[in-house]
Amino acid sequence: MIIDASSLKRRNTGTVSASFKTKADLSGISLDGEVEGQVECSIAGQGLLVRGAVQSSVRLECCRCLEEFTSPLEAAVVEEFLPAALVGTDPERFTFGDDYLIDLTEVVRQSLILGLPMRPLCTQDCKGLCQVCGRNLNEGACNCSVPTAESMPETANMER
Ligand SMILES: [Zn+2]
Ligand SMILES: [Zn+2]
Repeated sequence: MIIDASSLKRRNTGTVSASFKTKADLSGISLDGEVEGQVECSIAGQGLLVRGAVQSSVRLECCRCLEEFTSPLEAAVVEEFLPAALVGTDPERFTFGDDYLIDLTEVVRQSLILGLPMRPLCTQDCKGLCQVCGRNLNEGACNCSVPTAESMPETANMER
């Protein structure tokens, strides 16, 4: 996920468009397949502004039934990169060197993590687990006497 923005260095104006499609091993997120992205890079003051979007597919755990499932994920990317010659190596900032090569890996990772759902659901009407026996109610009802018909619609409404 490295973008060559060196043509901006010569012209000092304009935009470089780039797209990528690659396997990536990103910590904190379980990707299922490749990451695709389309970005534009332009001069912004002394730095470079990268804007675009990334798409991938992720493994998530349903917050109701705890089953793993795969979900498409799309996230916007907006990040400013500053010349390392100006700010040095500051771990809080994204920088680029004299070669104007922009490494997007960490930006893409953070953007995708921000795009993750707070409460992932395998399906919108997931029935969850029985609170008594722990059975996955998507696979069939159990014989417990918990009145699931009363508690479930309320929970479903709250999550909308
Ligand atoms: Zn579920
Ligand atoms: Zn049960």
